[in-house]
Amino acid sequence: MHRPLRLTCSKDALVANWRTLAGRAGVACGAAIKADGYGLGALPVLDALYEAGCRDFFVSTWWEVAELGAVPADASLSVLHGLGPADIGPALQWTGARPVLNTVQQVERWKQIAPERECDVMIDTGMNRLGLRRDEAGALTGLNIHTLHSHLACGEEDHPLNRLQLERFRSAAADIAATRYSLANSAAIFLGREYSFDLVRPGLAIYGGVPRREAREQIRPVVRLEAQVVQRRLIRAGESCGYGGLFVAQDDTEAAIVNLGYADGYWRGFSGRGRAEVGGVDLPVLGRVSMDLVALSCDGASELAEGDWVSLHFALEEAAQASGMSQYELLTGLGRRFERLWH
Ligand SMILES: *Cc1c(COP(=O)(O)O)cnc(C)c1O
Repeated sequence: MHRPLRLTCSKDALVANWRTLAGRAGVACGAAIKADGYGLGALPVLDALYEAGCRDFFVSTWWEVAELGAVPADASLSVLHGLGPADIGPALQWTGARPVLNTVQQVERWKQIAPERECDVMIDTGMNRLGLRRDEAGALTGLNIHTLHSHLACGEEDHPLNRLQLERFRSAAADIAATRYSLANSAAIFLGREYSFDLVRPGLAIYGGVPRREAREQIRPVVRLEAQVVQRRLIRAGESCGYGGLFVAQDDTEAAIVNLGYADGYWRGFSGRGRAEVGGVDLPVLGRVSMDLVALSCDGASELAEGDWVSLHFALEEAAQASGMSQYELLTGLGRRFERLWH
């Protein structure tokens, strides 16, 4: 069935970004594919990156493991939220995945159900989100730890916590036996190789996000958003357009009303600030973004008509700036009404 909204994803750009990150890290490079591959589709992302040589994947929950189904036998899948009471069944069923144990309770739970099986462990080094505190590491005795993880709180900034967490993780790694050690997300890969350890876990930058200035020249955009024009209309001078009458035409203004809105993850922050483009002509957003519709000024595009496609400006750094949303929110918010096309 025809859909008036499409999200075109570039497999080449996705793989190129992953290779760039792997090259910078200089160690094994995994991929966070939680939240349905940051909104692009976890399965096509897994397939493309596996083909490129990626063997380490990360999701948040066991429900996401079940959604993915079996991963290739030589690929590793870690479940970042660990092993809650309701996860025991799925963890016993999906033996190809490992929980990332985050609390003493989760460690005890794992020891009860699968004491021999490999698991991952998250140790907190200063973020205070998930992970065992350092003084709880005694509980890990007897576990068969595949990868010991920690996670930076401020990797996107030049923050003193980065180095502090690095030092704390070094010290934890010296004391806690594991096959591999992993600290870095996308941003941390750009902090330098001392953050790499044995394995890095980027997400955002694989999908075209720019976590730090140093990444700007290196990361390629992966997604392209296009929406179809529902109608073209004339707004007379003095009239307003859209909810709240936010935009008032100074002169007669031609508008293209396109099939896209905040229900698709084109957030209200783009009201009066977003931009689209057709044939090189800039089409600024007029007034407020509706649930399913956006008005674009199209005075410069005299041919633009019902059924034509326009491209939304969705360069993630700039779109985040314009909308007030994070790059993560922009990607993971992309709704189910988009037809997702890979090429
Ligand atoms: C989501 C996540 C990542 C990936 O982070 P990005 O900032 O998207 O690169 C890595 N590690 C952990 C623990 C995560 O939760």
